[in-house]
Amino acid sequence: MADALVIGGGPAGLMAAEVMACQGLSVIVLDHKPTVARKFLMAGKSGLNLTKDEDDRKFLASYGPDATWLAPMIAAFGVAEVMAWAEELGQPIFTGSTGRVFPKAMKASPLLRAWLARLDTLGVVQQTGWRWTGWQADDLVFQTPDGVQTLAAGVTVLACGGGSWARLGSDGQWLSVVEAERHPVKPFAPSNSGVEVAWSEHMTRHFGAPLKNIRLLAGDAVSRGEAVITKTGLEGGGIYQLTPALRDGARLTIDLLPDLSTDAVAGRLKKPRGKMSAGTYLRKALKLDPVKIGLLNEGRRPLPQGDDLAHLIKSLPLATRGLMPIDQSISTIGGVTRAAVNNDLMLKGRPGTFVAGEMLDWDAPTGGYLITACLASGAWAGAAAARYLKR
Ligand SMILES: Cc1cc2nc3c(=O)[nH]c(=O)nc-3n(C[C@H](O)[C@H](O)[C@H](O)COP(=O)(O)OP(=O)(O)OC[C@H]3O[C@@H](n4cnc5c(N)ncnc54)[C@H](O)[C@@H]3O)c2cc1C
Repeated sequence: MADALVIGGGPAGLMAAEVMACQGLSVIVLDHKPTVARKFLMAGKSGLNLTKDEDDRKFLASYGPDATWLAPMIAAFGVAEVMAWAEELGQPIFTGSTGRVFPKAMKASPLLRAWLARLDTLGVVQQTGWRWTGWQADDLVFQTPDGVQTLAAGVTVLACGGGSWARLGSDGQWLSVVEAERHPVKPFAPSNSGVEVAWSEHMTRHFGAPLKNIRLLAGDAVSRGEAVITKTGLEGGGIYQLTPALRDGARLTIDLLPDLSTDAVAGRLKKPRGKMSAGTYLRKALKLDPVKIGLLNEGRRPLPQGDDLAHLIKSLPLATRGLMPIDQSISTIGGVTRAAVNNDLMLKGRPGTFVAGEMLDWDAPTGGYLITACLASGAWAGAAAARYLKR
């Protein structure tokens, strides 16, 4: 019997495994996919934003109401620790102009390779192709290529991820298993999600185009980040930041000229249009690019004039169909709630079983906050599980 089982080989599970193995525990990491950390590798496709180099208070504030819960975990394994961890794995890092920290390789595969090699040296065993399906008394039950198997262990860390990008492994099927045992859980909802828009034909030529220098607003939430027009809507960091407000039903509006006041825009629109087409006029008078002009036309046709047009440019409502389907969101909220676990992240209703990573119900924007909290909660759960076993 192994000392510890880790269910889920994403960043949270692998970190829990590392911490427990470093304390001398025998550890098996089980994952239902043929290889581990597929979402982590996917995150590497956009450069692998590991963390954000900013002061502790600002960093924690990004977790909103979950900051108090995550604070001790991030105090123990936060920005500095994440950076040191990557460098110790032979991956030099760099900090971009906004403070975002990436491996210089701008991908996850070399870091993951080095990490798995370290785990191997520590004696961590990987068992892939095994899906955890629940408990039978104190044993864990798995669907495996050889049928149903059960395993016993001193402690277990559950790190099965959230409920998006199911094809990478995080299919959220574990939610009903945990719920059936009456541990408090919440249904999944999208976070860091794009919005769906049924574009009209004239927007087709803008698919893939970035919307630069805009301000996005939803309820009280404001974002100066970028967005990209896609076939099905709008994606990008600027939109992702607004997910909590959009989830609550707020309407999305776009300020197409955030550096000019409404009066300044109205002033520039006093220039006579002459025989210019509306598009040429807007480009010349306001330096609006074709994507922004396309969006304006999408919002309202025919375009109003004068002050009404200035107001529209400064607060263009976008008719969305809501957030993208949950499987396409970068992360999810929901899962195992704070009420279900104690301060050690141990399930109150199942002593010896700990939970880490996106399985837990916390929210954070993109910017490295997700991976940092997954590593931090994995390290926290792993350390607590080791203490529990040795108590
Ligand atoms: C496109 C994309 C880009 C991203 N970019 C970034 C970024 O740059 N920075 C950042 O901070 N975050 C990023 N994220 C988010 C980040 O990848 C996740 O928050 C993180 O991977 C979650 O880690 P985790 O260990 O909790 O779960 P996961 O990484 O989802 O891993 C869970 C593992 O559990 C396994 N599993 C699930 N159910 C079972 C079961 N029943 N039995 C056995 N195994 C199971 C899965 O196969 C999977 O391997 C990105 C996400 C996506 C989709």
